[in-house]
Amino acid sequence: MEFRFTGTGDSAQVPRFGCDCVACNRARVFTSLQRGPCSAEVHVDGKRYLLDAGRMDLAHSCEIQRPAAFLITHYHADHVQGLFHLRWGGGEPIPVYGPKDAQGCADLYRNAGVLDFQPGLKPFKPIKLESLTVTPVPLYHSKPTLGYCLDDGGTRLAYLTDTLGLPRETERFLRDWRPDVVVLDACHPASYAAPRNHNTITQALDIITRLDPPRAYLTHIGHDLDVECRTQAPVLPPKVRIARDGESLEDWPRLDAVG
Ligand SMILES: [Zn+2]
Ligand SMILES: [Zn+2]
Ligand SMILES: [Zn+2]
Repeated sequence: MEFRFTGTGDSAQVPRFGCDCVACNRARVFTSLQRGPCSAEVHVDGKRYLLDAGRMDLAHSCEIQRPAAFLITHYHADHVQGLFHLRWGGGEPIPVYGPKDAQGCADLYRNAGVLDFQPGLKPFKPIKLESLTVTPVPLYHSKPTLGYCLDDGGTRLAYLTDTLGLPRETERFLRDWRPDVVVLDACHPASYAAPRNHNTITQALDIITRLDPPRAYLTHIGHDLDVECRTQAPVLPPKVRIARDGESLEDWPRLDAVG
């Protein structure tokens, strides 16, 4: 499996509009520090699968290689806003898998265009996309949200965002499933007082400690966590990285070009 982070930011992204914190200012100078909407791509047997669709350059990247399917974690705008432009495109319909959510986002279901929305996925019921097995797992968020456990027969990767903690049955499933790689929501810095929809980095590291995968990435990173990493950097276990836009699994371990 080839896996690449196409975006690692929260809904405000980094740099955040109008913000002059050290993280946002550095990201304006060093584009490698920018964080786009949280999303990823997976390549298996020459097919491209997209995890979420929040990037506004989605149509462009889909012209370079048309995705075999979208796996949508949930219908918050930062995870689907790229579809609003893409849907009016041409060519074969593109299947879109996601949680059961009667509302979706705005008029996406009604005016689906080239998108072929599939019935809502059932938690813990795997689907097969050619040689990729996808098991949806429920997460805790303010909208119906699914994480995706991806298995191509070689690598097991659990993609878990957006979430605050993990439902007990999801955690139990993951312990049995034994992922090689966990990708987890860590939106907020440790000092964030009252997280409601996303993990703080402390909560994310606690979950990773409990799941104990060989390696883990943190994603959906807010600018204030980037600030905290510059001022009082959290001590990360060697098997945990804060992901960056464009980073792929084979980049591990990689020295940061820009600190
Ligand atoms: Zn989000
Ligand atoms: Zn900022
Ligand atoms: Zn969300």
